[in-house]
Amino acid sequence: TLDSEVSFHVANLDDLHQKHIRWLRTLPRVKPFYAVKCNSTPAVIRMLSTLGTGFDCASKGEIELVLSLGVTPEKIIFAHTTKPQSHIKYASTRGISACHTRAKLVLRIAVDDSKSATRLSQKFGTKPSVVKKLLERCKELDLEVIGVSFHVGSGCTDSLAYRQAIEDARHVFDTAVLLGFQMRLLDIGGGFPGKEGFQIQFDEFSKVINEALDEFFPADSGVQVIAEPGRYYVDSAFTLAVNVFAKKVVMDDNDRVMMYYISDGVFGSLNCLIYDPAHTNVAPYLHRKRYRSIIWGPTCDSLDRVTATYWMPEVQVGDWLLIDNMGAYTVCCSSDFNCFYKAHVYPVLSAQTWNIYFFLKKKKLCFSEFMRYCFPKKKKKKALFL
Ligand code: PLP
Repeated sequence: TLDSEVSFHVANLDDLHQKHIRWLRTLPRVKPFYAVKCNSTPAVIRMLSTLGTGFDCASKGEIELVLSLGVTPEKIIFAHTTKPQSHIKYASTRGISACHTRAKLVLRIAVDDSKSATRLSQKFGTKPSVVKKLLERCKELDLEVIGVSFHVGSGCTDSLAYRQAIEDARHVFDTAVLLGFQMRLLDIGGGFPGKEGFQIQFDEFSKVINEALDEFFPADSGVQVIAEPGRYYVDSAFTLAVNVFAKKVVMDDNDRVMMYYISDGVFGSLNCLIYDPAHTNVAPYLHRKRYRSIIWGPTCDSLDRVTATYWMPEVQVGDWLLIDNMGAYTVCCSSDFNCFYKAHVYPVLSAQTWNIYFFLKKKKLCFSEFMRYCFPKKKKKKALFL
């Protein structure tokens, strides 16, 4: 077809399924609210909704999107700290109760995010020195503060950042309780790894988080713990296929250097190379002899360079390159600059997951209910995870 050179993503929904199972098994006390900003592809939202996650929305548009895909208001948190008034009013009309005049408030605190690729506490969160004053002001205004949230930064590399942040949150809880607030919610944000090979780091983070929760917010404290993972769920699920539509061989210091022009670039799905500090490079692959290669995006802008020096086999015009780990902060920020097509998303899933999915839809069950349905006894439920 005419647009057969257009890049595309394959979104492996089975991968989301596996991630969710790992989350339930590894962080059993923490309820995930998927951060919609990370990748709002409808198939992703639908799959996660069926699996039973909640959704963290940052704007009216994200709320509209998830509601339109069948998510119910009680599954949504409107957690962005700075909200335009019109978005708050919209949320209250849709019954998202954490966001209007009778809203219950969660205090976002600034935490140490120095070990993360994207730091957020410079922009969001209350510093410890201001917490007491702010809570006292909330009391004066008769506002109901019920919890604390934080974000250790996206692309976190240090599990101890969570421990310190959970301890910080405990201090804020204590201050708030002394002032008469009934504190009952802890939101530990995002920052979890999601690309291939994430397991070791995720398990390490989970161990530290579970221990810190047991120490500072034991199960019998009655505090509900939630999180806002984005990257964790989607990163490894997406693979990008890009088409090489032009090629040039140049000499550089007696080296033959291949220049390839591909059907996606930094103004499209590969915008993560510019906007997402956790995505410092991409590694397109083909299994042949390798040359130093420079890969350009399709637009007229020379900024649109995808790799500067990348060793890969020679490819021919018409070949496709695959780029893994393209689920987080890619399709959501893509533009059609120069009127080049945006990459399509083709969701795929295995027959086994497809059957489960249809069964859930027919029975109007979410995944957690399905687990209880299939494995009523705790012992058997565990068996599924082995
Ligand atoms: N929650 C908030 C408030 C965020 O700002 C972000 C990302 O910027 C996320 C959750 C998702 O973070 P991550 O993709 O690192 O899990």
